[in-house]
Formats: sequence, C-alpha cells, structure tokens
Amino acid sequence: MEQTRLKTGQIAETVITGYSAEGMGVCRIDGWAVFVPNAIRGERCRVQVTHVSANSAHGKIEEILERSPHRIPRGCPVAKLCGGCQYHHMDYAEECNAKAQKVTDALNRLGGQDLPLVPITGGDGITAYRNKAQYPVAIKNEKPVAGFYKNRTHEVIQVQRCAILPEVFDRVRDVVIRWAEEDRISVYDEHTGKGLLRHIYVRRGAVSGQVMVCIVANGRELPRENRLIHALQREILGLASVILSVNTKNTNVVLGSEFRTLWGRDYIEDQLCGFTFRLSPRSFYQVNHDQAQRLYETAVALADLHGTETVLDLYCGTGTITLALSRKAGKAVGVEVIPEAVEDAKQNAARNEVENVEFFCADAGEAAKRFADAGTAPDVILVDPPRKGLAPEVIEAMAQMAPQRIVYVSCDPATLGRDVKRLSDRGYTLTHAEAFDLFPRTCHVETVCLLSKLRTEQKVEIDLDLSELDLTSAESAATYQEIKDYVQEKFGFQVTSLQIAQTKRSLGLPVGVNYNPSKKEAHHIPQCPPEKTAAIREALEHFQML
Ligand code: SAH
Repeated sequence: MEQTRLKTGQIAETVITGYSAEGMGVCRIDGWAVFVPNAIRGERCRVQVTHVSANSAHGKIEEILERSPHRIPRGCPVAKLCGGCQYHHMDYAEECNAKAQKVTDALNRLGGQDLPLVPITGGDGITAYRNKAQYPVAIKNEKPVAGFYKNRTHEVIQVQRCAILPEVFDRVRDVVIRWAEEDRISVYDEHTGKGLLRHIYVRRGAVSGQVMVCIVANGRELPRENRLIHALQREILGLASVILSVNTKNTNVVLGSEFRTLWGRDYIEDQLCGFTFRLSPRSFYQVNHDQAQRLYETAVALADLHGTETVLDLYCGTGTITLALSRKAGKAVGVEVIPEAVEDAKQNAARNEVENVEFFCADAGEAAKRFADAGTAPDVILVDPPRKGLAPEVIEAMAQMAPQRIVYVSCDPATLGRDVKRLSDRGYTLTHAEAFDLFPRTCHVETVCLLSKLRTEQKVEIDLDLSELDLTSAESAATYQEIKDYVQEKFGFQVTSLQIAQTKRSLGLPVGVNYNPSKKEAHHIPQCPPEKTAAIREALEHFQML
C-alpha cells in the first residue's frame, strides 16, 4: 500500500523510540521515520514535521506529553544554537546508553553481526575534558568576536563559557579578541577573502598543563605581535608556545600548512600511557586524555602481545599507540601521512628511549601495499583511521599480510561497521567490541574491536584461542597455554582453548569477555569430554583459580 507522504507543518502525537547517529530522537509518523532534535527515548511528544525529504523527515517537539526521567535542565545556554553538543538535555547514563546503542546498531546492521548491547566506558567527568579548541573569529556589531559556528552554518555564536573546555581556553580567546579590538587587527571575511584573523586554536597538555596558542591568519605577519604575546604571557598560566599558522586559502580547513613560532617552543608536551609526547600544531592528539588512555590500554590488551611479535600501527599520529604497543611487542612499526606528526613520533620514541619502533611517513594504503608485496607478515595490525574508515586497498593489503589479529580503533561506528563486514568477508571474525566515550555531551563515540583470523580447521573445531579474549585470567592467573601445558604433562593428552573455556564456564569462572556463541552455531560446538573436564579442573586448582 502506498504510504501517504508527510506534510511540512503536520503535527502528530508519537513516541521517541531511539536515536539517530547524529543524536536526534527517532519516532514514526504515518510509518515514516522522523528525526527530532532534543528528544529522549521513551518520551511521548507532539511533534511537528519541519522538513520532508525522499525517505526521511525532520521534526521538532511541540509539547512533551510524557517526560523521560533522564531529561535534565540544559547545561549550556547556547547548546541548541551552537550544535556542538547534542546531549545537553539528558543525563549522562542515557547518553552512554544512546552511544552504546549507536555502536551496536552499526556493527549489527552494517557489520553483519548479531551482538547484544556492546559495553561502554563513560568518562569520569563531562565538563572541561577537552584539551583542544578552535574558535572561529568574525565581526559582529563592528567588533571582533570569537565563538563557535552555529549548526551547519558559518555564523559565529558567542559563548561566554563553554562547559566542555577548560576555563583557560575561554581566557585565551578573550585575550586574543581584546588585542584584536585594541590594536585594530582586521578579521578574515570568507566572502571577500580579505582580513587577517581567522581562528584561535588552543591546546593544553592535560597532565603537563602546557598551553599552546596558535593564531590562524590570512597573512605572514601579525601587526603588534609583541603586544599579543605580552598579554598572553601575563594572563595565561602554563603558556608554552605561541604560533602563527598561515592560511591564505579559501577553505574550511582551519590550519594552514605554514607555521611560525612567535614565542616559546614549536610544540607542547603531555604525558600519556607513561610516555611523554610532544605535539606540534598539526599533530593529532585525542581530545580527552583520561579516556584516550583507557581506550589505548584496552587496544594494547586486545593485541595480546608477549614480547616477540611484530605489530603494524596504521594511522599512528604522533606514535601514541605505537609506543604503548612497543612495551609488549618485539617490534612496532607506525605509518602516518602528516610529516610533522611523523617527526613528532620519531622524537617521541627517542626521548622515551624506545628502540623497537620505526615510523614511516606515507599513505596507509600505499605503505600497507608495499609491506604486503614485500612479504611482510606482522602478527598483529592495529588501525586507527579518521572518520572515513579504511580505504579498500588497506583492507586488501591487510588480508594479504594475514595477521592473526586486527585491532580496530574507530571514531565512526558506521565506517567501522562497513569495514568489519569487509574484513569478515576476508576471514576475520569480530571477537570483541567495546565503546569508549571520549566526547561527553556530543554524539561522537570511539570503539575498539578485535578481529581474529580463523584457520579453516579452527572453523570446523571452533577452537578459538580464547586466552586472547580472556583478559581477566590472562592478567591475574594462569594463561590458557599454562593450563594446556600442565594437562599435557600431568595427563599426557591435549586440551583445547574451547574445552578450557567450557570447563571454566561450567564452574562459574569468567571466560572471554565477548565469547557468546550464537544459538545457531551452538549445536556445532563439541562438548568437552568428562576426563578432559576433570584434568582441566585439576589444572585450575593447581593454579589456584578455583
Ligand atoms: N593513533 C593516533 C592517531 C589517530 S587519528 C592516536 O590515537 O593518537 C588518525 C590519524 O591518521 C591522524 O594522525 C591522521 O593524520 C592520519 N591519517 C589520515 N589519513 C591518513 C592516510 N591516508 N594514511 C596515513 N595516515 C593518515
């Protein structure tokens, strides 16, 4: 039956059933999916349709008839206008829930999985967590102002205090704007391409407290530059670096490619995962320090290294994850396309006295192809691509190199889902998925996945190496290998990882975090024979795991 088309302006009573990837509430009106900003799952609302397109529609809340217990007073006066944060109207528990759902949906729908809700690790704090900000500068009422772009526009919205940024960032902004006003610095106009000041870009080391101020300008000189530097020195605690980024192009990309240090060092430093990192303006560094550290620790644990393996870290930035991997690997090799980031990565390895790493400046796809063609066979490949995910040639080259494990760190669940599907078509099985919230109040979320290669005979026997997944036992008690060796020596027969997991499960011990065989395959799994169960039980007793 032909569905009646929705009409703009039409009002309907409906219930919000979930969230879109962009954090909007989703409801149905006359069978059509309608996206409603600022709505919370479970709320009954009167929704007015505001925009209709070919296969979806947008609406706005006219009235909330049944309010969610998760609704809270908005934490930011301009949240609706600014559009940087989508979740200010709900409590953090519901936000985490929405993000876990987003990751799970992407992995199931696009990745061909059948996962229950993936676990998510929320942040300790949801304010002042960001260590980077970019304020566009504009003219309003004939005065320079800096703020954030209004949702989907280039209109600058002023915000006295942005709650997700440290206070010192807003202070930097005010100092720069005061200088611009007092010293009559011109402001860049996108339409005419004239004017100087474009963006104020600020970074701070979460642990070091060092602050970098980078002025993005449409020119190579700043008039009365010293007055700016003195004002920053006077008012900004921790100021370590003032840099000019020259951007004369008519582009949305914030930073230019030419940099000149006006005062202090060319970079700032910060500590992460027990290493000290230096960060140049163009080098990527996760915006949420504590959550990044948790994410990286999990990624390294999933790589399951024992000191001998070769690991390839594609899209390595300044080598943050590469160095963390190097502690447990025989050798770690990083690939990154931004030359300054590669330079930072090399310096970071040297100053932390890490010798078993190597960095290459190259496109990940080209480098991976070169490695594959040269017969390089890393044991583990870790990838952490930008939002667009992995290029087909990266997947192709990874499949050729055939590592045992692929650890995928992703900032976009949709491209992650797509790539998980492509990798599963190449013989990799998703064995672990976990989300980390690095961006409280916004709709963004990070995910880390483990994809394991199954050999053909393993597919038949379903003898996954569960110790890879069983972080609890790997860290605190005997590994599966030790149990296997014990049984072999004492009883003279072999047991498989699956049999160990089955025995552990039957005894109520924790097994691999995500090893939930679907009902479909359950009847293919051979059950552990009683004599082997008894032997494994004895080994567990021997290692005091019972
Ligand atoms: N793993 C690092 C960086 C992750 S961000 C960290 O967590 O700190 C993604 C990185 O990929 C950025 O540093 C970006 O410069 C880099 N990048 C983007 N496209 C690339 C490409 N085609 N080849 C290699 N690196 C790329």
